[in-house]
Amino acid sequence: MHLSPDADCAGFFAQAREQGVSSFLLAGTSLQNAEFVCSLAAAEEGVYAAVGLHPHEAQQFEASHLEQYAAFLQRPKVLAVGEAGLDYHYNHSAPDAQRLAFSAFVQLAQDKQKALVVHCREAFDDCYAIVKEQWRSGLRFVLHSFTGTVPEAEKWLELDAYISFNGMLTFKKADNIRQALQAVPLEKLLLETDSPYLAPVPYRGKSNCSAYLPKIAEKMAELKGLPLSEIARITNENARRLFGIDCDSVSN
Ligand SMILES: [Zn+2]
Repeated sequence: MHLSPDADCAGFFAQAREQGVSSFLLAGTSLQNAEFVCSLAAAEEGVYAAVGLHPHEAQQFEASHLEQYAAFLQRPKVLAVGEAGLDYHYNHSAPDAQRLAFSAFVQLAQDKQKALVVHCREAFDDCYAIVKEQWRSGLRFVLHSFTGTVPEAEKWLELDAYISFNGMLTFKKADNIRQALQAVPLEKLLLETDSPYLAPVPYRGKSNCSAYLPKIAEKMAELKGLPLSEIARITNENARRLFGIDCDSVSN
């Protein structure tokens, strides 16, 4: 999930906690918002942070920034590198710049032994090649807001990836995403909102928030043929293993 500094952050978390969501991963998108996400994590119970550079912002990447990211990663509730990845849908940054930055963040996650939150949109071949080339045993990473195909999910799983699904699972025309979900074994599944984007049905079109996470969990439970409580337990355990946290519910 993402929050902006002008949001009612305390209200946002309170509303989610009322719905049974008690742990949150705030994803960074640039060096500029790293301080904000890390400070909010330090101040709010159950809130954790990731620091990274979204592929849309990759043109700002400079190798000299890695030291500053590394310093953020030393703070106690900063659990992951991310978002990082490739997005060829908009190409807000040139593909070359995106690949350069992404490689550096994969390396950073490995060096610092932190989880990596990967954003991959319409860029499977290059994204997979970069992770595979640098992959060393022990790399913990998640494909967030997964929108790929079944064969793509299978390739990621060969690298021991976790795969995270958001509110698109509830969208009428998202059969491809529901098929991908079926290809992911339970021990590799995560749930997320990607708030403020992609609110699940029946809130579609509204600004998304972590309080809507149970709607996504319900859909996942239905599709996997399991009780909601079982999906909650499994995704909690997976998040704990991936990020190294103790939690009841995690809203990415
Ligand atoms: Zn993303």
